Amino acid sequence: ELKNDTIKAELGRGTWKLLHTMMARFPENPTTSEKEALRNFLHLFSRLYPCGECAAEFQEILKKYPPQVSSREAASQWACAIHNMVNVRLKKEIFDCGLIADKYKCGCDDENDNKKDK
Ligand code: FAD
Repeated sequence: ELKNDTIKAELGRGTWKLLHTMMARFPENPTTSEKEALRNFLHLFSRLYPCGECAAEFQEILKKYPPQVSSREAASQWACAIHNMVNVRLKKEIFDCGLIADKYKCGCDDENDNKKDK
């Protein structure tokens, strides 16, 4: 139904924005605890995402392509790749993951401070 599709798409856009922005702000050199936090977050997220059919598909993707949490770059590229897998399934355009570094900003005060990761 059209209305539900619109709501689902809005939720998707907001969610992808949050996910990609989280990856863009993930530490360049994460600690063991930070890596574990991201891995746990993504698994819990895939269980709790409110669109049930989307969550089920997403869990299958996570099984095949476990979250890459070793660095900001690895996490950002991983998220871009899995978003592209969803794009393929939904017959959407593929995004060029080489362009991802500058696209997702948080508007945070410390955004341009490369010395600080947190
Ligand atoms: P979106 O896919 O929402 O993307 C938003 C913007 O992100 C794009 O306009 C583009 O600028 C940018 N972008 C596109 N690709 C990438 C990329 N690879 N990396 C970084 N940025 C990119 N909808 C369903 O109908 N069925 C599903 O099974 C389904 N599963 C989903 C699973 C998850 C985990 C999520 C978060 C969403 C899911 N959705 C699903 C929603 C769907 O992915 C879209 O969010 C929704 O259809 C709106 O699409 P859109 O064309 O506006 O762009």
